Amino acid sequence: METGAIPHYQAQAQEVTLFEHAFRRQLPVLLKGPTGCGKTRFVEHMAAKLGRPLYTVACHDDLSAADLVGRHLIGDGETYWNDGPLTRAVREGAICYLDEVVEARKDTTVILHPLSDNRRILPIERTGETLHAPPEFMLVVSYNPGYQNLLKGMKPSTRQRFVALRFDYPQPELEARIVAQEAGVDDKLAAQLVKLANALRVLKEHDLEESASTRLLVYTATLMQDGFEPQAACRAALVEPLTDDPETVEALMEVVQTFF
Ligand code: ADP
Repeated sequence: METGAIPHYQAQAQEVTLFEHAFRRQLPVLLKGPTGCGKTRFVEHMAAKLGRPLYTVACHDDLSAADLVGRHLIGDGETYWNDGPLTRAVREGAICYLDEVVEARKDTTVILHPLSDNRRILPIERTGETLHAPPEFMLVVSYNPGYQNLLKGMKPSTRQRFVALRFDYPQPELEARIVAQEAGVDDKLAAQLVKLANALRVLKEHDLEESASTRLLVYTATLMQDGFEPQAACRAALVEPLTDDPETVEALMEVVQTFF
């Protein structure tokens, strides 16, 4: 059981209660929303609150079913079986969080389906073993619908196995509270940063793939807390991470200058 402190998480709506019910009812959960809006922190918070170990896997386009389930390895001239994080989570009754699940290779779907419907089984083809997930095991996946990669969208047959929670950047007062708490800055500065972020977010449609996240606001506030000039902190932690185009950087810095 987890004994560490519960990571701080500011709830946006009913997500904490919903997650608790999903856990008790053995339902898998899908979190959708833009990067840096608190999905990972939410899962860390819930795992600690529910007293379950957490296995987090950042999915990428080379991640295969074997990376999740496990594989035979060679050591000391012998082959032995090595559980992947998903298998370990099933055995231990842990929470397994697959971040950006749509990035993973298609063969992972075959593994996730029987585990995310009422069978709750993990067949390990290579060893012939079939694991039955204990009641404490929970599968949580996330993805960012904003990327709109049609090839990599989530198939309805997968999506409809999950209870889905939509995340977004928190309301301004809440986001300011998060920034103040996470970076240790005063409420006034946090509120000003959130105003700036919302001004930048409006520009999103024009040039940027992704808008300023809560994570970037926390980074910016942290640099300011360390004594960096506001404009230098905004450039390094809020503007440069958003774009590689020098002209767009300067356009965004003009917005920054109207706030700091
Ligand atoms: P995601 O998984 O959605 O990309 P994270 O959970 O990693 O985003 O959030 C990024 C950072 O933003 C966190 O490390 C935390 O500092 C802050 N954060 C965002 N939302 C919240 C929240 N609701 N409560 C507390 N911190 C938050």
